[in-house]
Amino acid sequence: MNIHEYQAKSILKNYGVNVQRGIVADNADKAHTAAKELHAETGTSWYVIKAQIHAGGRGKGKIRETGSNGVVLAKSLAEVPEKVKNILGGTLVTHQTGEEGKRVNKVLIAEDVYYPGDSEPKEFYLSILLDRGTSQNVIMASTEGGMDIEDVAANTPEKIIKEWIDPAVGLQGFQARKIAFALGLSGNAFKEMVKFIFSLYKAYEGTDASMFEINPVLKTSDDRILAVDAKVNLDDNSLFRHKDLAEMRDLSEEDPLEVEAGKSGLNYVKLDGNVGCMVNGAGLAMATMDIIKLSGGEPANFLDVGGGANAETVEAGFRIILKDPHVKAILINIFGGIVRCDRVANGVVEAYKKIGDINVPIIVRLQGTNAEEGARIIEESGLKVSSAIVLKDAAEKVKEAIS
Ligand code: GDP
Ligand code: MN
Repeated sequence: MNIHEYQAKSILKNYGVNVQRGIVADNADKAHTAAKELHAETGTSWYVIKAQIHAGGRGKGKIRETGSNGVVLAKSLAEVPEKVKNILGGTLVTHQTGEEGKRVNKVLIAEDVYYPGDSEPKEFYLSILLDRGTSQNVIMASTEGGMDIEDVAANTPEKIIKEWIDPAVGLQGFQARKIAFALGLSGNAFKEMVKFIFSLYKAYEGTDASMFEINPVLKTSDDRILAVDAKVNLDDNSLFRHKDLAEMRDLSEEDPLEVEAGKSGLNYVKLDGNVGCMVNGAGLAMATMDIIKLSGGEPANFLDVGGGANAETVEAGFRIILKDPHVKAILINIFGGIVRCDRVANGVVEAYKKIGDINVPIIVRLQGTNAEEGARIIEESGLKVSSAIVLKDAAEKVKEAIS
């Protein structure tokens, strides 16, 4: 689960990580009040206004309707409402959102921490994530903060430092010092960075996160080290033990079809193609997507209905696939192991009749227990459903359906 920057920063703050202070707002008036509060609290009279969406690249990204960037500076209290109005309610397009962009429902009003006249603000990159290859958490750091880390990794990989954490002993002092040293820090800034890394690691472990990315981490000329941006990805499988974090979920940031599928217990990922598919088992679903591609189509989704597919799951899957206007054909590929093919076939027929008004051809490939009986049920139903027993046959039928 992804969360917003303002939520991530509140988590960091609770774990004692230094963060750029900020207050979230969903209209220009509240933003103005927030800026006043920040002034009272921090003494700042310059503010950064930051669009809150689940995507990076906001600083360089543009609001389609107004041309404003997604992160802008306001050099007085009076400038805040006007600049907020150019962002809120607009569509922010960044290199991570794709052409369609994302609607901005909230902005974070933050203190400006790049002091005017500060000749030495330094931006670093710092992240913690799970390295599945070594089964260890890894801390990645770079002096090239503020930039896209993908570019740094591609062009100057030697500028990324990695420190793997042994789960049995946790983060060691020498490791945090090694990172701070490699970032070129000394004196007070060095000590502050070591503290920063320790608190950040504690927050990462304490929240069962799968990724923390702080880009940039800022060093001011007076040696403060603070998180200016924060991207946090939490492990969905651990949310049951973090009720407070689970509440941070913002469904408006997620694909509506994926949200609906989640409610029915289906594993659904929306894709851009024209052939919908419904499959039992993730591996078979991947293979089915390959088959769709080989037949000249493009998968419109990944959908794993799970091992115990029944009439209800088939119906829920149907409804979700049919809501995607790009779908020109549906391929149902079920291997009858635990579930029997005749039951799936009955489920398909029932769901089809119940939903009614289905205008796309449906190809059902059933294999395994009672496959032939399943095929007979489909053929005899009189519906616009054709059955296939072998996958090659199914692929041919998909090809016909979309050509
Ligand atoms: P991202 O573009 O989505 O990664 O958003 P960031 O939070 O990283 O902000 C983008 C850029 O805005 C940063 O790299 C900074 O250069 C700039 N920025 C962020 N906070 C401040 C600030 O307090 N003052 C100034 N002057 N610039 C800031
Ligand atoms: Mn950033």
